[in-house]
Amino acid sequence: MTQQFDVVVIGGGPGGYIAAVRAAQLGLSVACIDNWKNAKNKPSLGGTCLNVGCIPSKALLESSENFERATHQFAEHGIKLGKIELDLPQMLARKDKIVDQLTGGVAYLFKKNKVTSLHGHGHFVSRDGEGITVAISADGKEETVRGRHVIIATGSVVRAIKAATVDNKLILDNEGALALTAVPKRLGVIGAGVIGLEMGSVWKRLGSEVTLLEAMPEFLPPVDRQLANEAFKIYTKDHGLKIELGATVSQVEKNAQSITVHYSNDAGDQLLEVDKLIVAVGRVPNTQGLNLVAVGVDANEKGFVEVDDRCKTTAPNIWAVGDVVRGPMLAHKAEEEGVAVAEQIAGQSSHVDFGTIPWVIYTSPELAWVGKTEQELKSEGVDYRVGTFPFAANGRAKGLGETRGLVKMLACARTDRILGVHILGPFASELITEAVVALEFKASSEDIARIVHAHPSLSEVFHEAALAVDGRALNL
Ligand code: FAD
Ligand code: AMP
Repeated sequence: MTQQFDVVVIGGGPGGYIAAVRAAQLGLSVACIDNWKNAKNKPSLGGTCLNVGCIPSKALLESSENFERATHQFAEHGIKLGKIELDLPQMLARKDKIVDQLTGGVAYLFKKNKVTSLHGHGHFVSRDGEGITVAISADGKEETVRGRHVIIATGSVVRAIKAATVDNKLILDNEGALALTAVPKRLGVIGAGVIGLEMGSVWKRLGSEVTLLEAMPEFLPPVDRQLANEAFKIYTKDHGLKIELGATVSQVEKNAQSITVHYSNDAGDQLLEVDKLIVAVGRVPNTQGLNLVAVGVDANEKGFVEVDDRCKTTAPNIWAVGDVVRGPMLAHKAEEEGVAVAEQIAGQSSHVDFGTIPWVIYTSPELAWVGKTEQELKSEGVDYRVGTFPFAANGRAKGLGETRGLVKMLACARTDRILGVHILGPFASELITEAVVALEFKASSEDIARIVHAHPSLSEVFHEAALAVDGRALNL
């Protein structure tokens, strides 16, 4: 018999599982269909983010940074260590344990909130007056469920390029890059975006010689130019990442033990010889096999499910959230959309403020920003004032030994309202939250300048940048 639910969610990543939990909290009956299987061939909730994205990458970034600190920085603190050795199997096992704990945590949340968890591939069958029928296929069997509402949260998959087909042996995507069992001597990365930089940083710290080939002539185009240029210097000069901009890869040859990458730049045709190659050229929405046409849901030419600013698709009572729809492919954006949709189904009028979504790149130092960049304000003809303050002038940063980078605040010249905040520095991912709150509450730089910040703390750099907007930074 076909089970009937108030809400059926397709996809158990951050968009889908959070939508399911929130809908259940609001008293709705909910089923969540997810088809992810982990390396042990076991169903594993949490989607890309928990299984092969945000969480394992941050675990390895932290471990590799500790390795680098122990190797290069502890001596300065007066800590002498003996011979430092890398135990890569243990590093990977730690990462896998964190993933298991968190994916298991989603299963626990489903139980606690009485969300029915169904494993398999979901696709639309039909709709009638009372609801939408969705089929779930797994291991050659098929069952159906019906939902009064359906939320599509099927996420994204790796963008493929013809020149380099991923085999996860020599040519890797994020999944392979997070599971290498030996440190490659020479590692190539196609794409110097968020994922390419994070993966490149991990393996560089563990001993690889890393070259990133980036098609765009500019480094990190969405980032404020001043910070992107500063970050480029740090990553290349201090960390030794080789980043080639304006490099178009035309062909990749697999040899027995290595890879030859053919690419061209301003200087002509070039060759790069590496032992492993990561392809990190972005991600594309995943609507494969969903049978959207059966229920009248439109997708655009790039494959994104069409939604309005409240995540309503072109079909009544069918919603879509996360990477499968427009907007930044970020886990917290997916989650907030999931919450907003669940609440709308329950009769509330929630929405997401897309102007205050923080972005973070977990390099060292971290890059984080919210709101407008200086180049955006210029092109929009907005009159603005700028305040910057370096971490080098902050006592806490000195104590940490992490003095590179700065905070940059952009405020409206007429009203003083904060329009954008850009941070390159230690714990930028944590510090950015104060900026998000400031933007959400429409704060002025003067508001922040008048708020007491603990001393000594990294947050004082944010405070000083706010003072600097008015030309009155105190410690510089
Ligand atoms: P997903 O997490 O992709 O989940 C979709 C789920 O739906 C998957 O489990 C999939 O198997 C399942 N599914 C798909 N189709 C079907 C179907 N037809 N039936 C049943 N199940 C289906 N974002 C951040 O905010 N911070 C970070 O630090 C960060 N780091 C990242 C690092 C890497 C290496 C990668 C790859 C991504 C990273 N991201 C990060 C992006 C983040 O992972 C995504 O934005 C987020 O996972 C999107 O959530 P989602 O719920 O939309 O989709
Ligand atoms: P992100 O979406 O942040 O993971 O970034 C992906 C990066 O890959 C972007 O900076 C793109 O410009 C870059 N990119 C996309 N296609 C190619 C390609 N064929 N060769 C090199 N870089 C690419």
